[in-house]
Amino acid sequence: MLKINNLHARIQDGAEILKGINLQINPGEVHAIMGPNGAGKSTLASVVAGKDDYEVTEGEILFEGNNIIEDAPEDRAHKGIFMSFQYPVEIPGVTVTNFIKAAINENRKAKGLENMPAKEMLALVKENSEKLNIKRDFLMRSLNQGFSGGEKKRNEIFQMMMLNPKLAILDETDSGLDIDALRIVADGVNSFRQEGNAVLLITHYQRLLEYVQPDFVHVLADGKIIKTGDKSLALELEDKGYDWLLN
Ligand code: ADP
Ligand code: MG
Ligand code: MG
Repeated sequence: MLKINNLHARIQDGAEILKGINLQINPGEVHAIMGPNGAGKSTLASVVAGKDDYEVTEGEILFEGNNIIEDAPEDRAHKGIFMSFQYPVEIPGVTVTNFIKAAINENRKAKGLENMPAKEMLALVKENSEKLNIKRDFLMRSLNQGFSGGEKKRNEIFQMMMLNPKLAILDETDSGLDIDALRIVADGVNSFRQEGNAVLLITHYQRLLEYVQPDFVHVLADGKIIKTGDKSLALELEDKGYDWLLN
């Protein structure tokens, strides 16, 4: 599904951050990326999603066999790549439900499809809000306005499940994730992966990986993947930190 070959990227006109990343993600797999602060984890997520603060200087990102480096972020989204906090904006007067409906229909339009029939949309909202234990009044709130950390997380995972991308990239940067928020993310990812979708889960927290069992754990340090293992690597990192890998 995703194949990254020798990816080098820098901040526009600035320092090189990614220094030769190789990564392959197959359908149904969950890959966790861990690593010290400043390693380039969020940069990797942004570069795959196509954020224009960064410039790819070498290498390729193949999504379903095609190099997407020249694609705009919205084209990548239409192809099936979702990134968390792609839509972090507060929009007064636009509800959680209406926002996601518009995003789904925009996605369909880009593929030459008609709007999703209202009945089908309603069923989809019902199915996913029940899975995430989302209440009706939450669905009617203005997007992100006054959302707590847990509510933002719930909305983000709801967006992921509603859009049903092929690849979801979740960057768990928030150090304030409480146990409820961790569970929301974990439940969402576990239900989502069953459909053959892939997840790139960036996290500082070993604890999240107690609820989501990754197929692979990668350590990113100084712009390179310096170690890959299975979920036992996450436990080892929890125990020993990163220093033993950095020499
Ligand atoms: P991580 O997510 O692993 O903590 P980041 O990808 O956020 O690391 O950052 C990697 C390095 O790149 C850091 O030194 C950070 O300061 C720098 N960096 C990332 N994005 C920018 C940017 N837009 N402007 C300036 N520096 C940046
Ligand atoms: Mg950081
Ligand atoms: Mg980060």
